[in-house]
Amino acid sequence: MVEAEKGALPPGAVIGMLGGGQLGRMSALAAAALGYRCHVYCPEPDSPAAQVTSRATVAPYDDETALAAFAEAVDVVTYEFENIPFATVEFLAPRVPLRPGPEVLRICQNRLREKDFCTAQEVPTTGYAAVASAEELGAAVAKLGRPCVLKTVQFGYDGKGQVLIGPNSDLDEVWAEVSGAADVGLIAEEFIDFRLEISVIVARGADGAREIFVPVENHHREHILDQTIVPARVSEKVSDKAEGIARHLAGALDLVGLVAIEMFVTRDDRVLVNEMAPRPHNSGHWTIDACTTSQFEQFIRAVAGLPLGSPERLANAVMQNLLGEEALGAQAALNDPRAKLHLYGKAEARPGRKMGHVTTIRPKE
Ligand code: AMP
Repeated sequence: MVEAEKGALPPGAVIGMLGGGQLGRMSALAAAALGYRCHVYCPEPDSPAAQVTSRATVAPYDDETALAAFAEAVDVVTYEFENIPFATVEFLAPRVPLRPGPEVLRICQNRLREKDFCTAQEVPTTGYAAVASAEELGAAVAKLGRPCVLKTVQFGYDGKGQVLIGPNSDLDEVWAEVSGAADVGLIAEEFIDFRLEISVIVARGADGAREIFVPVENHHREHILDQTIVPARVSEKVSDKAEGIARHLAGALDLVGLVAIEMFVTRDDRVLVNEMAPRPHNSGHWTIDACTTSQFEQFIRAVAGLPLGSPERLANAVMQNLLGEEALGAQAALNDPRAKLHLYGKAEARPGRKMGHVTTIRPKE
């Protein structure tokens, strides 16, 4: 097998992908365009990513025999979601180059470590406190004020594992509700009455070069991303601040790959980091249809050791997620000739499940 460390992977090399969701699918399509093969590893059969590659392992993340064979069969390993058990990554790391490296995953899969990392880097985040007991919950709420938000430090996404503590919430009742998750770990966060939620995606190559996509604004429905509007309607000052934070964090993480930084813009134009995802991100899907280089191509370039491409935005865009049954009539979107439909090949349209998206592009004004 080719050594990933020595320059770029040659065409025909195999990129191992942990996780088989839509992010893996769109990354595998970008890899194919560059002449690479993707080998998807995930526990679910017929995953969206495996549907577009010829190589897939369907096995649990703790199956060491399957993992060892996977490491043998690929030239580099990356991942398309951050809730991969850390033990899986530790098992693979001595066997095959891993990009981004294990430390990036260790930080980004835990909200508390993420916030501690930002604080150490003097990057502003929401106020926060670790909560491991009923006493610490009381102390955290006293420190942060009400309302505040209680979250599990890990395995929470799209608002799962979150409790809003309002002016009248009984802390004993809240603790009774969440204490089952205390072994995963809990974090209390100051509630931000934000003006806007934005995100910035930055890529960093093996040579330390960084390329950044324009900040975008994100609108959620029931904590799930609904729509991304490009570019974000923020001042140049806010945009510069957000880009500066993203560039800085990518460097500080010693990242090789892609990281999406979700941020709150407050009413007085402060920019606070909410969370980081060291992989392509839902708020970057518009880049497929509106940028010189998509986030998926950029991700593959970084992981493969190729030079990064231009992230230049060629058009304005609105990306609409298709959740659950919304995807059933999705082809109607194509009645607008400037709409681009992307479906992820998921058979079952469960409520809130990300089934696809539509990007509509408009000329830049
Ligand atoms: P998360 O899983 O942390 O991205 O949270 C999902 C959504 O909940 C965010 O996109 C926000 O809309 C909202 N949210 C999370 N944390 C806070 C916070 N500290 N203050 C206000 N809203 C929040």
